[in-house]
Amino acid sequence: MQKYFLYIILAALVITACATTPVSNRSAFILIPESQEISLGKQSFNQILKKEKESEDVQLNQIVRRVAQRIIAVSDMPKLDWEVKLIESDQKNAFALPGGKIAIYTGILSVAKNEAGLATVMSHEIAHVIARHGAQRMSQQMILQLGMIGAGLSMKNNTQRNIVLSALGAGVLYGITLPFSRSHESEADQIGLIYMAKAGYDPNEALNFWQRFSQVKGGKGPPEWASTHPADATRMQGLRNYLSRAKYNYQNGKVKYGLGQTFNLPQQNKTPDKPKAIPGVSVETLTP
Ligand SMILES: [Zn+2]
Repeated sequence: MQKYFLYIILAALVITACATTPVSNRSAFILIPESQEISLGKQSFNQILKKEKESEDVQLNQIVRRVAQRIIAVSDMPKLDWEVKLIESDQKNAFALPGGKIAIYTGILSVAKNEAGLATVMSHEIAHVIARHGAQRMSQQMILQLGMIGAGLSMKNNTQRNIVLSALGAGVLYGITLPFSRSHESEADQIGLIYMAKAGYDPNEALNFWQRFSQVKGGKGPPEWASTHPADATRMQGLRNYLSRAKYNYQNGKVKYGLGQTFNLPQQNKTPDKPKAIPGVSVETLTP
């Protein structure tokens, strides 16, 4: 009987819990009040920042801030309490949490190469926030664990904290990987591409960025953005489908930055080891 009741409550929640995403106009299933979602995002962000070191590179921080500001200004939630941090780390990582808390890792800048590449990452992450993908994933997790409905989510409870962090996409840092679903990914790509074009960055660079990204080999260490954001043929095709709309926005925009500034990054890799001689095989060395 109790279970039956729970299903009725659940059905009622499902009916009342639909929100519509901007740009893509998809209906989204969300059980969590926006205030709770924002507060969980803030708490997760503070927890993560305690473990990370912020970059002190003045120029890079400046670029990251201005790319963020330009995209946020044309987004559907310019008034959110956005906060952008550049984290000093070789990890090719980036994430955004509900409430507009964004982190970009210096490691991903080598793949971004220029402002438009960074705008691709940033607008994709901002789109995850605005489409409330974190809240949708938390809602799915709550359905999977019916007991959690009504109790609310708390960062103080270990199990719940892990669910929150993994649902928000920050779990990769803790070894809990729950990739965004294919539909959330393509939605973030779609919304992001439009935002970056409206912000004045050449949307063609998004395709170049994902191509560069697919060439980055996953190294050792904790799973990174690459594991939750595969750059596969489906993603490339999806981006191509939205490119004409994005180009229209770009062409008709007031400002155009093109690719923006190219990053001047400190050399990360030492000179690669010379290939070892194999008896009987002549080795050609390509100098860059
Ligand atoms: Zn994503």
